[in-house]
Amino acid sequence: MSGNLILSDLTTLAMPETFLRVQPPADALSVEQISFSYPNGHRVFSAFSLSAAPGEFVAILGPSGCGKSTLLNLLSGFVQPQAGQIRLNQATVSPERSELGYVFQAPQLFPWLTALENVRFGLRMAADLSESQQRERALQYLRLVGLEQAAQRLPHQLSGGMQQRVSLARTLALEPEVLLMDEPFAALDAISRNHMNEETLRIWAELGQTVLFITHDIDEAVFLADRVIVLNIAPGGIHSELKIQLPRPRSNLKTRRLPAFLDYRNELMERISQVMALSEARVSPSLSRVLETESIL
Ligand code: ADP
Repeated sequence: MSGNLILSDLTTLAMPETFLRVQPPADALSVEQISFSYPNGHRVFSAFSLSAAPGEFVAILGPSGCGKSTLLNLLSGFVQPQAGQIRLNQATVSPERSELGYVFQAPQLFPWLTALENVRFGLRMAADLSESQQRERALQYLRLVGLEQAAQRLPHQLSGGMQQRVSLARTLALEPEVLLMDEPFAALDAISRNHMNEETLRIWAELGQTVLFITHDIDEAVFLADRVIVLNIAPGGIHSELKIQLPRPRSNLKTRRLPAFLDYRNELMERISQVMALSEARVSPSLSRVLETESIL
């Protein structure tokens, strides 16, 4: 007789009740009731919370001034909130935590190093690998972002999109569990940006990290995310959240023309216009009275 358990056996086993209860996985990243003001007293967050489940792709959408950069600084652990806490895999964040990876708007490559050496540079600083292991790992991630053939090129010999891919490979080579992406494709033209959006999803599907992607581009947020968090102008906190239930894998050709894609896009456009109206009302009391009579506030 086989030693394997079959499903009906499970019903006959006496298991403690707590064992049978399915626990949802702990959040990969959780921001719990944080408050933060700059030294000049300008308050950006007040009892602000958000979380991301393991492997979730969360987009943070909001106009300029809503606190996106401040939030990133807090998530990195370089800046501390005055109240509340930020946890990464249930432990408090700090700048030393290697589970966090960043991709910024500017690729910030060393101009005198090849693509391969740029990717290897981060590994030299952070990973306990021999020189040949570093090269192997750097090549592995250049391959993943589709740039193996460009490994020996200098940054000025690469297009803006390719440079951003090298920057992505440099971060991914450190194998972070949580990726913070701060408007990484904002400087690219629309065609390159759409292509990079598709590439991001392909890589994410392969590696499965938790991603927090900051953008002010509604289409980008809908295309990429499982969930979009809309921020109010600081210190307004979260305006609302929207789950994006578009099928995966997503592609520019198929996904962007789905009626549901346009519905999500229109819904978010409406929410952003509410955010803008609220912020203008804050600086203009007369506009505030008009909005009140029109039940916007
Ligand atoms: P975003 O990245 O969404 O544009 P920021 O996080 O840069 O927003 O800024 C949020 C708010 O905090 C804004 O009102 C901004 O003017 C203010 N702010 C940003 N940096 C500082 C600072 N160093 N001192 C005081 N206020 C700041």
